[in-house]
Amino acid sequence: MKDMTPTSAPAPAPARIHTRTQSARITGIDLDELARLRESGVDHDGNPVQPFTDDEGDWPMRCCLTDSRVGDRLAIVNWSPFPWHGAYRAAGPIVIHADRCPSVPDGSLPEPFEQRRQILRGYGHHHRIVYRLGRLVEPGTGLLAAIEEMLADPEVDFVQSHNVLAGCYSFTARRA
Ligand SMILES: [Zn+2]
Repeated sequence: MKDMTPTSAPAPAPARIHTRTQSARITGIDLDELARLRESGVDHDGNPVQPFTDDEGDWPMRCCLTDSRVGDRLAIVNWSPFPWHGAYRAAGPIVIHADRCPSVPDGSLPEPFEQRRQILRGYGHHHRIVYRLGRLVEPGTGLLAAIEEMLADPEVDFVQSHNVLAGCYSFTARRA
């Protein structure tokens, strides 16, 4: 009789595709800079931070790259996700946890982004957009692979991803 006990068979390999080794490290906004904003109560445009309690859930959080949950304390703030100053230093609205985040990004690409249309821009060491590499990535067509391809170009320092319609900042990708 065939032995059907589970311990006699090797465990199946996990099927979670995003656990593979990435050459890109994905982060949200800079957490030290976020701590300073929470401390000062003023955003990058000089506006007072005005926290509110989330009664809807599913806001896209740019601090921890999670979606918010009902009851979270949030704030919509003006933010520039650039580590330098210059003509290409854009700013725009993002949603953050007003007080603290439930987790810290682990460097992997959160799966929901693969299902959202994204614009990718590569920024060079000269603090400008590397225009020849910019692209629109449709849902399910390999967002992470596109990011890794851009980061393989030595002219690129980092890649930023933005939502297509609203134009809001999504995340930053750097070489792992
Ligand atoms: Zn957060």
